[in-house]
Amino acid sequence: MTLNDKLAKNTWVPSPHQHIIPASHPDFAAIAMLVTLCPAGRYRINDQGSLCIDQTGCLECGACRMVCDEKTLIRWAYPSNGCGIQLRFG
Ligand code: SF4
Repeated sequence: MTLNDKLAKNTWVPSPHQHIIPASHPDFAAIAMLVTLCPAGRYRINDQGSLCIDQTGCLECGACRMVCDEKTLIRWAYPSNGCGIQLRFG
């Protein structure tokens, strides 16, 4: 079984609240770092150059939280109880 096969077994329960909230005007170097480091590819830069995050699919690894302060991510918390990733180890 490949890594992608194993990851495909995971499921996500959408949370009614955003568990990661980016700042309105984060530093561009921090944005570029988030786009590069997120193992799930949740961060991207839109056509207007703003940071966007699709929280569905977040692995809750905390890497983005560890490298950023509140100037980049206003909030990082685990999703509400029962929401977020449900790991299914193949
Ligand atoms: S917690 Fe991990 S997977 Fe989720 S957005 Fe941050 S870096 Fe990506």
